[in-house]
Amino acid sequence: MFEKVLIANRGEIALRIQRACREMGIKTVAVHSEADRETKYVKLADESVCIGPAPSSQSYLNIPAVISAAEVTDAEAIHPGYGFLSENADFAERVEQSGFVFIGPRADTIRLMGDKISAKDAMKKAGVPCVPGSEGALPEDSEEVMRFARDIGYPVIIKAAGGGGGRGMRVVHTEAALIASVNMTKAEAQAAFGNPVVYMEKYLEMPRHIEIQVLADQHGNAVFLGERDCSMQRRHQKIIEEAPAPGLSTRLRDKVGARCAEACRKIGYRGAGTFEFLYENNEFYFIEMNTRLQVEHPVTEMITGIDLVQQQIRVAAGEKLKFRQRDIQFRGHAVECRLNAEDPYTFVPSPGRITTFHMPGGPGVRVDTHAYQNYTVPSYYDSMIGKLITYGDTREQAIARMRIALSEMVVEGIKTNIPLHVDLMADAAFHQGGTNIHYLENKLGITIK
Ligand code: ADP
Repeated sequence: MFEKVLIANRGEIALRIQRACREMGIKTVAVHSEADRETKYVKLADESVCIGPAPSSQSYLNIPAVISAAEVTDAEAIHPGYGFLSENADFAERVEQSGFVFIGPRADTIRLMGDKISAKDAMKKAGVPCVPGSEGALPEDSEEVMRFARDIGYPVIIKAAGGGGGRGMRVVHTEAALIASVNMTKAEAQAAFGNPVVYMEKYLEMPRHIEIQVLADQHGNAVFLGERDCSMQRRHQKIIEEAPAPGLSTRLRDKVGARCAEACRKIGYRGAGTFEFLYENNEFYFIEMNTRLQVEHPVTEMITGIDLVQQQIRVAAGEKLKFRQRDIQFRGHAVECRLNAEDPYTFVPSPGRITTFHMPGGPGVRVDTHAYQNYTVPSYYDSMIGKLITYGDTREQAIARMRIALSEMVVEGIKTNIPLHVDLMADAAFHQGGTNIHYLENKLGITIK
């Protein structure tokens, strides 16, 4: 096992990884920007290195700075967390070329899955169900593009092969708008991702977002750890996640999960990963794979009892998975609310100093946050300040515990989205379960682009 791991991230996930390492007896190196210097989790690390000024382009995204921090501290492995460099194949490659272990998949796997066309192609070959669409990139010829759309049936969605973060997509409802939309998406994709290639998919109108967690070692073993329902979103950003997905047939889940595990074996996947699907009319449609830990990984940990971060580290160190698919049992239900420093209804970020901070507790309550009283939420990064996760024998119990936890929580000095979560925990459709990805925006009266 590694003696020392460098954590190339910040905030709650940096703390989460640090806790996993400490439990395993591994020393930690925190790298941080000037804006994060005084944080508690940086001080809790065995060593810390300042890697640059506040803007992430000069610190958390600065590959040479991260690698030299590993060099000067003699760390053996680097955990990238989520966001920042976690899905950057060049970073993974540079880490390994410099003699460190990248806690994640191989660089070529990240590259394969980072291009949505090659990812979809690989998944199709592995028997994972995909959204019907153009096989590969859209051709130049307008007639051909129109034929594709007619075959698929309107509405269709034009997506950038190199897209991410909910950008580089356009829904088209009529043939009249098709070619102009394709050209606009291409131009945007070139500007945003340096890659003008686009493809076409059937646009699903009322889907849920359901994803499957996988874990694979370097010895050809792969398992799936159940699913998460992440349909409660605004502007393509998840705000509540839960496991298992309400009302989903376990037979179907097991069938699709087994295909995902098989796909991992086929592509030689290593580490933790997530297959994201849209789910409509009892069918799963693959949209993309995330080759890293997800924000919402705790709900899976709660219902499986498996520590995903520790498993990532074990796999990276070359260990074999200690369990097989039949050993994995799903027990109870878990819900996660993402806590953001923002206006609950307009989503405008609200950075600043937290003057009062009281965390909830009690049975089945888990709080993953790096924040505390007098902590200042910087304006440079994502507005998420933590996650509240509750567990219960049943979904009703998990929701009841979330309602109580939210009522106990006090955060003053900044605005948070706690009031929105309080509303949603009392929402009839949420209680019933199975709301689609547009539910929240419709409820809040936001028009969908
Ligand atoms: P990104 O990498 O930018 O997150 P995804 O391919 O994961 O892109 O898609 C992001 C979101 O866009 C999905 O969660 C869904 O809301 C919407 N979306 C993508 N493809 C489709 C589709 N074929 N039909 C309907 N909605 C889609």
